[in-house]
Amino acid sequence: MASETLLVTGGAGFVGSHAVHELIDRGFGIVVADNLNQGHLAAVHPKAELVQIDLADRAALKRLFGRHRFTGVLHFAANSLVGESMAQPFLYLRDNVVNAMNLVELCIEHGVKRFVLSSTANLFGNPKQIPIDEDAAIEPGSPYGESKYAIERMLAWADQLHGIKSACLRYFNAAGAHPDGSLGEDHQPETHLIPLVLDAAAGRRSHIEIYGTDYPTPDGTCIRDYVHVCDLAVAHALVLDVLTERSCRYNLGNGKGYSVREVIAAARRVTGCDISVREGGRRPGDPPVLVASSDRIRAELGWTPKFSDLDSIVAHAWGWRRQNPAGYDDRSNEKRRRAP
Ligand code: UDP
Repeated sequence: MASETLLVTGGAGFVGSHAVHELIDRGFGIVVADNLNQGHLAAVHPKAELVQIDLADRAALKRLFGRHRFTGVLHFAANSLVGESMAQPFLYLRDNVVNAMNLVELCIEHGVKRFVLSSTANLFGNPKQIPIDEDAAIEPGSPYGESKYAIERMLAWADQLHGIKSACLRYFNAAGAHPDGSLGEDHQPETHLIPLVLDAAAGRRSHIEIYGTDYPTPDGTCIRDYVHVCDLAVAHALVLDVLTERSCRYNLGNGKGYSVREVIAAARRVTGCDISVREGGRRPGDPPVLVASSDRIRAELGWTPKFSDLDSIVAHAWGWRRQNPAGYDDRSNEKRRRAP
């Protein structure tokens, strides 16, 4: 029996499922709360209990908190696409903020004192200085980023007024897959660069379109900091220890940026496939360069990305893609494992 039980919302999603894997390896008991709208039943660790629940359903959430004595909450579940949030701002602001508030209020009611939030580099909008550290000015670049910032502020008040300690983890570009090929990235529809490039390599799409070639970067395409999803997972486990004492916030990236053209070149190297490219216009809301400084979490918690080079990240994503060409088998999503 695990000595501690953690609630992981969105534990059937990309980063959440990898974090669950890491936490179970470390001996935690895990309850996954996921509505399976974007998550996949097949991504849920067999040792985790899955509760199919929508975080907007406060009554169901209350019953869930009543059934378990959680010692912490890791909150991954959210709408998380910058572009979509520009088109549907209030969907993002309402759902992300209200769902988080439901959780935080239940943590207060049930004495759960540790809360880990999946936050985002989009908090920093179009930053003036690269790399971006935790003291950079917060100017959310989209309603998505704004929603995460609102939750960070909510958590600051939950600490000040109720002693709930929180870790706000600002991910840069989560990428890669579990090296054993058991877990990977599968969004419907997929909008992220690496899976789309790999689909082009596998012949599942005709080409990859580069969104903008006139950015003020060396090759004219956007630069991003791709961080391996398993390294992100480890960071979640590390901050849990900090939360017994204090709240914290960390920027999580490799500290190294790669352009869209460099990602495509890495995919050609790793897959050995030809990838046809079309140069298109800019995607609204994309800043030219986003690269993290993760010096703080490295210094304070000894976090060191294990898979920091782009080729490993792309190779792991490719490994999963080859084993699961059409992504997860979602037919099993129809089955509810346990009612809330
Ligand atoms: N991108 C691209 N073509 C695509 C998808 C993405 O050129 O089909 C670019 C996008 O403009 C950005 C980078 O790839 O500069 C990473 O985009 P992604 O959507 O993966 O993550 P984001 O940076 O938006 O979180």
